[in-house]
Amino acid sequence: MLQSINPYSSQKVYEVREYDEQQINEAIDRADERYRSWKKVSFPERKKLMLEAARELRKNKEEYATAITEEMGKPITQSLAEVEKCAWVCEYYAAHAEKQLSDKSIETEAYQSYVSYEPIGVVLAVMPWNFPFWQVFRFAAPALMAGNTGLLKHASNVMKSAGLIEEVFRRAGFPDGCFTNLPISSKKVEHIIENDKVKAVTLTGSEMAGRAVAAAAGSRIKKTVLELGGSNALVVFDDCNLEETVRTCVQARFQNAGQSCIAGKRLLLQAAIAEKFTEKFVEAVRNLETGDPMDKDTYLGTLAREDLAEDLEKQLQESVEKGAEIRTGGKRDKAFFEPTVVVNVTEEMPVFKEETFGPLMAITVFDTEEEAIALVNKSRYGLGVSVFTESLERARSLVPEFDDGAVFVNELVKSDPRLPFGGTKSSGYGRELSVDGIREFVNKKTVYIH
Ligand code: NDP
Repeated sequence: MLQSINPYSSQKVYEVREYDEQQINEAIDRADERYRSWKKVSFPERKKLMLEAARELRKNKEEYATAITEEMGKPITQSLAEVEKCAWVCEYYAAHAEKQLSDKSIETEAYQSYVSYEPIGVVLAVMPWNFPFWQVFRFAAPALMAGNTGLLKHASNVMKSAGLIEEVFRRAGFPDGCFTNLPISSKKVEHIIENDKVKAVTLTGSEMAGRAVAAAAGSRIKKTVLELGGSNALVVFDDCNLEETVRTCVQARFQNAGQSCIAGKRLLLQAAIAEKFTEKFVEAVRNLETGDPMDKDTYLGTLAREDLAEDLEKQLQESVEKGAEIRTGGKRDKAFFEPTVVVNVTEEMPVFKEETFGPLMAITVFDTEEEAIALVNKSRYGLGVSVFTESLERARSLVPEFDDGAVFVNELVKSDPRLPFGGTKSSGYGRELSVDGIREFVNKKTVYIH
């Protein structure tokens, strides 16, 4: 049995029996069979269904958002926003997929030569619990619009959300087998990857899970897209707009209780404003509304599981032993972790060099641009970086210096259907969203007509 436990109330929310191998194989067969007809369905027809999925999400958003909140503790207002964002990505690909996948003509000496973007078949998505709907929809919308079919292996603690996502596509009218949820634990993932009918895998999650899935797929020459951890830096220069930057940095770290790969986890402050900024930042963090995630006023609920809060506690303790100083927070009660700010953070501390997946901001002070660049790039991760300065000239000149997959200026790093999303280094490879995302799981077929 796979169970979801509400991390706020400790009550069981949902349970589902795991599929055995036969049920998994049958689901793969159905997805493959459906692919053969689905790939021939016209773009206008796929578009109609995808817009229906968006409508369904909006119509029943309370139902979907409640499941998210109950299963992983996200405050209800943020769950509702997550469902809205899923509707947006469905609408985005409904509107743009046909153009994004239209033939690309290339001039050669041939009578005609071009690239045609064709679907590849069944794609497996291994997904995490932190944005239980969004992570799945940002894979499913482009995959289905491209003519592929999808299999979902969701995180074991959000199987109710997983079932509801399948339900969204069913209610929207997608034919059976287009999108299938597989209630299974991670032990059965390799069995799916081994199946010849499964053509590619996308995974969002930890480095460890990414390594395991990429190794299994690689040994069978199957493409993967990996979106793994991050330890984004927020680089604050002394010419920034202080009040606005404080607000943005608080949101960058504390929304979703800090459980986001693109959260700003390391706050790098230029020396001249470091103390003043820290004071204002700490004050804002102390004012964050904590409590029952179902309450509309709550900004920060619990973490998704108690073990995740325990991991964060260990990272904090070890960092404190190495000289970090807690300015606010630091205490844990089961899955609840106080919003926490630590200063005097150095490169060898876990809160700097590891991913911290919770409401904890690590502050380090720098003097020069060169020092800031070096600190940003010290991380083994490379998802994104935010730079705060009133000088756009400075900001532009810094962009090529960073190793990351994204640079945001005077804004937190966020995902947006219109922009490519993905990382470098241990944060993974490949891109989701935008035209780049929809072209990850297609056969870029070269056509040459003499
Ligand atoms: P995991 O990486 O273990 O879980 C993500 C998904 O991968 C789940 O569906 C999980 O299934 C599956 N999975 C795990 N191990 C394997 C494997 N060996 N083979 C195939 N699939 C696998 O994340 P955790 O929940 O353990 O979180 C741990 C840390 O991972 C966090 O603290 C954070 O640092 C990072 N993380 C990053 C995320 C991101 O957005 N990039 C999202 C979530 C976590 P199952 O649940 O059944 O184990």
